[in-house]
Amino acid sequence: ANEEKTPIAEFLKGQVNIATEFRGLIKPSDFDEYKSKAGFSALKKCLKELTPDQIIDEIEASGLKGRGGAGFPSAIKWSLVQKAQADKKYIICNGDEGDPGAFMDRMLLESYPFRVIEGIIIAAYAVGASEGRLYIRAEYPLAVERIREGIKICREKGILGENILSTTFSFDMEIFEGAGAFVCGEETALIASIEGKRGIPQLRPPYPAEKGLWSHPTLINNTETLSLVPWILRNGSAKFSEIGTEKSKGTKVFALAGKIKRGGLIEVPMGISIRQIVEEIGGGIAGGKAFKAVQIGGPSGGCIPASMADTTIDFDSLKEVGAMMGSGGLIVLDESDCMVDIAHYFLSFTQDESCGRCTFCRIGTRRMLEILEKIKAGKGKLEDLDLLEKLAINTKKGSICGLGQTAPNPVLSTLKYFRHEYEAHINGTCPSGKCEHLITYE
Ligand code: SF4
Repeated sequence: ANEEKTPIAEFLKGQVNIATEFRGLIKPSDFDEYKSKAGFSALKKCLKELTPDQIIDEIEASGLKGRGGAGFPSAIKWSLVQKAQADKKYIICNGDEGDPGAFMDRMLLESYPFRVIEGIIIAAYAVGASEGRLYIRAEYPLAVERIREGIKICREKGILGENILSTTFSFDMEIFEGAGAFVCGEETALIASIEGKRGIPQLRPPYPAEKGLWSHPTLINNTETLSLVPWILRNGSAKFSEIGTEKSKGTKVFALAGKIKRGGLIEVPMGISIRQIVEEIGGGIAGGKAFKAVQIGGPSGGCIPASMADTTIDFDSLKEVGAMMGSGGLIVLDESDCMVDIAHYFLSFTQDESCGRCTFCRIGTRRMLEILEKIKAGKGKLEDLDLLEKLAINTKKGSICGLGQTAPNPVLSTLKYFRHEYEAHINGTCPSGKCEHLITYE
């Protein structure tokens, strides 16, 4: 009855903190404080009580899937690297976050550096890696500083280096600062970048698990995925898999942004609806305007209209409605947003970031952008919409990496749910009033 109703209490209610455990309660670079909150106890348990196989079994039982976008089961990836025969193996933590409106990795690296480091060491032990790289965007100087400080402290405390925690396991890691190319978030481009080459995705197979950094088997996991690992090992896989849906377990971190009253980094249980996020956590639309849609998954994801806000956050439901989880960008749109403009914005980003290797990703997206520009200017024709759709489908099919395969998603999802807005532009009107040179109607 006395339940707090302050905006911050409302914002936190409904969230489940695993990657963001002890949010606001631990100073990021305070080793003792992290330790006092069970920090490094999962690592100790792994190194002293569990075999690498038992750790991978635990990750498998938890149902953990990669949080970088594709949702690949983590245990399969770990197991492939573990089984690979090699004299040296690597682990890479992918913190190369580049989606517009996304700040999940940034906040995790800045706020919980020891948790990320602990997750990396546990994964390294499980797969038999002796060296690690933390790939962080150079545009995140505080994240780089805190991780650098964290690595230094861990070396001093015997948590990194030779014979970690007085066991036979030795492992160390370094930071690699990325130069801000979105495509370097793709794992083979990221590896090329660390090797000093141009960050261009490679055809797979071979996968990095077989032939990765400097041709050695390499485990690459996203920052959020690795941040979840210590909690799973400390609390047990059953506790983690209790949260979420049948096929999507645990939580997901989102950067909630856009026309929302309360934005910020949120961690929610899988299975929560978009409506709950927007209305309950986010407090609804700011400025009394009407909720129009959410753009989920950044430039790789799609737009889901407000009429479908009961769609739940899980890998399968989002796929079914033509969107995707992505790494965690969640931008809320209101009635003043033009959906043609949104599609144009995200496509111009991916077009700009395309490495140019595949013809469709290089030229197909360029042609699509030209059509969108024409439509935005009120000079489009109805047949342009068919051409746009055809180019989008072919770009998805004809691209070798995730960037090109998903770049058309914002266009396809807006064409699917907001075709009337495209048609309105062709008829010389912009329903939202955003395209100022066109007529606006109510
Ligand atoms: Fe490069 Fe695009 Fe091809 Fe990916 S899909 S390799 S970004 S051209």
